[in-house]
Amino acid sequence: MIAIRAGRRAGWTSAFRETMAQAWIPITCVVAWVGLAVAEGPGPDGTATWKAGVARAVITPTTPVWLAGYGSKRVPDGALHDLWLKVLALEDPSGRRAVLVTSDFQGVPRSMSDHVFERAAAAYGLSRADLMITFSHNHCGPRLGDDLIDYYPVDAEQEALVREYTARMIERMVDSIGHALDDLAPATLAAGRGKATFAVNRRNNPEADVPALRAAGRTLAGPVDHDVPVLRVTRPDGTPLAILFGYACHPTTLSFMTWNGDYPGFAQLAIEERHPGTTAMFVNTCGGDQNPLPRHTVELCMQYGGELAAGVEEALAGDLRPIAPALATAYRSIELPYLAVITRAELLAIVSDPEAARADAIKTRWATRLLARLAAGESFPASADYPLHAWRLGDTLMLGMGAETVVDYALRFKREFGADTWVCGYADDMLAYIPSRRVWEEGGYEGGARLYEYGRPALRWAGDVEDRIAKAVHELVAEVRRP
Ligand SMILES: [Zn+2]
Repeated sequence: MIAIRAGRRAGWTSAFRETMAQAWIPITCVVAWVGLAVAEGPGPDGTATWKAGVARAVITPTTPVWLAGYGSKRVPDGALHDLWLKVLALEDPSGRRAVLVTSDFQGVPRSMSDHVFERAAAAYGLSRADLMITFSHNHCGPRLGDDLIDYYPVDAEQEALVREYTARMIERMVDSIGHALDDLAPATLAAGRGKATFAVNRRNNPEADVPALRAAGRTLAGPVDHDVPVLRVTRPDGTPLAILFGYACHPTTLSFMTWNGDYPGFAQLAIEERHPGTTAMFVNTCGGDQNPLPRHTVELCMQYGGELAAGVEEALAGDLRPIAPALATAYRSIELPYLAVITRAELLAIVSDPEAARADAIKTRWATRLLARLAAGESFPASADYPLHAWRLGDTLMLGMGAETVVDYALRFKREFGADTWVCGYADDMLAYIPSRRVWEEGGYEGGARLYEYGRPALRWAGDVEDRIAKAVHELVAEVRRP
């Protein structure tokens, strides 16, 4: 990666262009980062202020890494627009720092984020509490590491490409975090909330019925979270430096073979076009059971991106709450127990059933891989490590939760901690769907026996995962709210 420093007042500028391999459709790649274009020191009235810094880098693959998300073998055919990782670094007047990474990745596995955490600790002194690595869960993004490893046919050449791409992305993420920290300079923060209504609870509404239900003006079934939380980071001259926004919905509008950021990608482009010089950053809040419906056309994808950008504008046009320059961060990794660890006999039954292989190739690949691990002398743990973050920015809480949290978590924590709480899913580790008690009891795709899709050595979570998560979140919130 090459990063060229942008002029202190120039906004971001293209700095890097890679030539793709022969017989590969060229995609423009830009690696750039942004400085906060202000002088050091206190705010205009002499009071202490936040400092903020932003960096950004293109992550569009330049080699034929497969698309992630739907599992079939799929070599992409170009790009609608570039994919990005973006970094917002914040520092309060006492020197406490928090760094948020957002990205157009489908899923960052723990095997990747662990490397970034270790490198960021060594290079910048950032603890896990201070760094949150999020991904939009974009289904038109690239494979990474061992994320959803059993989704894909085994292919040695592809595995090598994924390893090489993942190593490059670790470097790019670590470098970008450093660039954002280098650029810390005074800024003000303000927050607000807009709305966007295209997310549909996919467990409660058959996809084919949604257009007719919408046309008839009928209320769709099931819990949703249509809030669009917005954080505006502003230069002292009033120009927005960064606009962070969230929404609870799967980026699955498109399911074809072309790189793009799905609706969050289009929303970021629309916001950056409307606010030249700003960096728009997206976090998927708790969209594990939410889909953008109807879907499957570029027009709809752009429409949803536009609706989300309009939700951001609605928030920006309202009375934003100024956020006092005070920061606290906390992190915990908790154990989420499996209902039952899979046994050798159960795995053998799966691989020896030819019907099972035809019906579910993912499950057969998973069983085959796990049997090889048992044969190598491994034993499987009875639980998975689950990452949880709590940040307090002034009075505003920002929670970060690993993987595919269903919408109940956002609704619960906003009820318990305040409507302006950010409840970000898809943080640090794409380890599985994380059902609430309700969804676990209902079963189905997000709540039932599907953990094998994520390579876990079990089929289901234990029924009390929501209780365990909520207990830890309350403790973390108490920690960051302590004076
Ligand atoms: Zn998903």
